[in-house]
Amino acid sequence: MTVRVGVVGVGMIGQDHIRRLTRVLSGVDVVAVSDVDIGRARAVAGGLREAAVHATGEQLVADDRVDAVVVCSWGETHEQYVLAAIAAGKPVFCEKPLATTQEACRRILAAETAAGRRLVQVGYMRRYDPAYRALREVVQDGSLGLPLLMHCTHRNPSVPAHYRGESMINDTAVHEIDMVRWMFGEEIAAVSVLRPRPSRHSGDLPDPLVLLLETGSGILVDVEVSANIRYGYDIRGEVVGESGTATLAEPSTVQVRRGGTVIDRVPADWRERFVRAYDVELQEWVDAVGGDGQLGPSAWDGYAATAVSDAGLEALRTGARVPVALADRPAMYEK
Ligand code: NAP
Repeated sequence: MTVRVGVVGVGMIGQDHIRRLTRVLSGVDVVAVSDVDIGRARAVAGGLREAAVHATGEQLVADDRVDAVVVCSWGETHEQYVLAAIAAGKPVFCEKPLATTQEACRRILAAETAAGRRLVQVGYMRRYDPAYRALREVVQDGSLGLPLLMHCTHRNPSVPAHYRGESMINDTAVHEIDMVRWMFGEEIAAVSVLRPRPSRHSGDLPDPLVLLLETGSGILVDVEVSANIRYGYDIRGEVVGESGTATLAEPSTVQVRRGGTVIDRVPADWRERFVRAYDVELQEWVDAVGGDGQLGPSAWDGYAATAVSDAGLEALRTGARVPVALADRPAMYEK
C-alpha cells in the first residue's frame, strides 16, 4: 500500500520532509501541499511528480486523495490543522510543538479521545536517533544502577530572525523536555531556569540559559541551551547512575589526528545531526499509518512537553522553581 500524504507548510522542514518522503522512504507519496505563501506551495509542487496545491490546510485535509497529513507550518497554526485531520479521521504527523499552549493541546487530546483512536503523532525525532536509542537501552537495562542525574547540552550556531527569548525554551529546550520524559519513562515535576551573563553574540536573547528539570522520582537534569555559539550544532548528553555513567556518542564518522591535534567534525545544523532520526521517524510513521507498526510520540506526549515548557517560561520570567501540573492522563495514552 502507498500512503498518500498531504503536507501543510512547505518552509524549511516541510521541504526537507517532502524530500525524504519522495526520495528516501518507501510506501509513501506526496500528493498535495499547502502554504500561506501560495507561490511557495506552487514552486514546491512543481518539483513533485503530481501534487495538488491547496489554498488552505483545511482544504488539503478534505482532499479525498490525501490519506494522511504532515503539518510543518508555524507552531501557532498546528492546532487548527491537527483538529481538522482528527475531524476527518485522517492520521496526522505534526511537527513539534503539538500546539503552543496547554489549552490548545488539551483541545487536541479531547478531540482525539472522542474519536476513540490514536491519529496524532508529534515530531519529537530524538526518540529515533540511534545514539539516543542506545543511551536509553543502557539506562533501562539497569547496568548503571538507578539514574540520578543527566547533563544535556543543546547548542545552535545561530538562530533565525523570528526567534524570541521564549524560543530558547519552547522551541529549543522542548526537545530535551520530551527526550527526558522518554529516557526515564516518567513525567517532569518541576522546572527552574538560571541565567549566566549573556553572550555578546545574542542581542536581546537570554542566551545562554540553564534549565533544571526535576523528574517525579527525583532525577535532576541540567540543560544548557545556547542559541548563538557560532562553532556548530552541538548536542550532548550524559546520564549519571549509581554505579556508572553513559554518554551520547559523538555523531562524526571520522576523527583525524595529525600535527599534535585531534580534529573532529561538529554538525552544521539540526538537519545534518538528526538526518537519520528524521528518516527513521517518518518511515515508522508511514508504516504505522499503512497498518504495519505503531505510532510514535502521542498527543499526550505533545501536551506534557508543552506543559513543562510553559512551566519553564514561567520560571524564566519569575526566577522561581515552578511545579508542573498535568491533567489526568486519558486511558488511551497509558503505556
Ligand atoms: P519555516 O521555514 O518558517 O516554515 C513554516 C512554513 O509554514 C512556512 O512556509 C510558512 O509560510 C508556512 N505557514 C505559516 N502559517 C501557515 C498556515 N497558516 N498554513 C500553512 N502554512 C503556513 O519554519 P520551519 O523551520 O520549517 O518550522 C516549521 C515547524 O517545524 C515549526 O513548528 C518548528 O518548530 C518545526 N521544526 C521542527 C524541527 C525538529 O527538529 N523536529 C526542526 C525545525 C522545525 P510563511 O513563511 O510564508 O509564513
